[in-house]
Amino acid sequence: MPTHQYDAIAIDGPAASGKSTVARELAARLELIMVNSGEMYRAVTLEVVRRGVDPGDPAAVVGVLREIDLHCAVENRNSMVLIAGEHPGEALRSDEVNAAVSRVAAVPEVRHLLVARQRELRDLGDLVMEGRDIGSVVFPDTPYKLYIEASEEVRHQRRAAEGQVDELALRDRLDSARRTSPLMVADGAQVIDSSKLNIEQVLNAAMEVLREQGWFERNPESATP
Ligand code: C5P
Repeated sequence: MPTHQYDAIAIDGPAASGKSTVARELAARLELIMVNSGEMYRAVTLEVVRRGVDPGDPAAVVGVLREIDLHCAVENRNSMVLIAGEHPGEALRSDEVNAAVSRVAAVPEVRHLLVARQRELRDLGDLVMEGRDIGSVVFPDTPYKLYIEASEEVRHQRRAAEGQVDELALRDRLDSARRTSPLMVADGAQVIDSSKLNIEQVLNAAMEVLREQGWFERNPESATP
């Protein structure tokens, strides 16, 4: 058992809100492990899709979950999801996975297993984790919580610029409406609207929130000039 409880910064928000960029940049600036929790839900979904299983059939999804060999590793301060020892790469972001992931992520057994894996990563060091339920369910006790949002129009433009087919509104609806750990603004989370901000501005706003939440008092070595 670890003797030191490492810190966690929780970043939640809807799809394409800019939370991944903020998480990545914060991880680089503050020298934290970066965890993209969405990749884990995508990895289970990829296996569901590959096996031709109906993502809307929870019992069949649980069957896949029990069969797959899923691991989370950390390399160069980045978390990586491995299926049978391999990182699935770009397949995690395929149109088929985009279309099915929110239904797979609504299955309680899937969430139960992945939340446990996500919590274990905190034993490895201070981290920033982005997702939908990080501040509400995975690390409800952390004082460092941000919720990044952006207008639907801006989020669509961002996804289109990435060349991805992604039904954002549908995913958000499913993610917000599910019974088990829906997308929500967690208790104590500060909301940043990134619609009209560039990356530097969002990052500055995030650093300001972390300052207010006491991050730099607890971690003075990570203060930037
Ligand atoms: O973050 P990303 O868009 O890659 O997440 C893909 C999907 O994974 C989300 O739409 C959501 O259904 C699910 N997810 C989740 N909880 C998380 C992270 C992602 O339910 N913490």
